[in-house]
Amino acid sequence: MAETIFKRIINGEIPCHKVYEDEHVLAFLDINPISRGHTLVIPKEPAETLDQLSDDASAAIGRVLPRLCRAVQRATGVQAYNVLQNNGAGAHQAVFHVHFHIIPKPNTREGLGVGWPARKLDHAAAAALADEMAALASE
Ligand code: 5GP
Repeated sequence: MAETIFKRIINGEIPCHKVYEDEHVLAFLDINPISRGHTLVIPKEPAETLDQLSDDASAAIGRVLPRLCRAVQRATGVQAYNVLQNNGAGAHQAVFHVHFHIIPKPNTREGLGVGWPARKLDHAAAAALADEMAALASE
């Protein structure tokens, strides 16, 4: 895996506005925030996408993510927020080191805009798909 800008931030080679750090996790402010308080939460383990992250690193992120969301809420005074996690260039990932965005949504103009092209579920196809995914998830 090529060294990313986030790896350099973890290593202290590039500065950041640090919000939180422990043995496995680092959180810091996004350099181009889409709302005030936009925060990035990253594992120190160098995985490109979430599916490649170890169970231990995932657990470490999961343990602190709600606490960091509360810190963002309290510091900004904004209750609504989105947690965004992009995987792959096609899904708007620009930095190939796993990261979770915590993005306050103070109003309709700031924060994350979401496109949601919902369709009707085909229940027969859905049953087969869910069975296939269930088998894969328990491998
Ligand atoms: P992605 O599109 O990969 O989910 O988002 C990557 C995020 O990383 C972007 O929101 C971008 O502003 C942020 N980012 C990129 N380079 C840096 C950097 O050097 N420092 C910080 N703090 N954020 C960065």
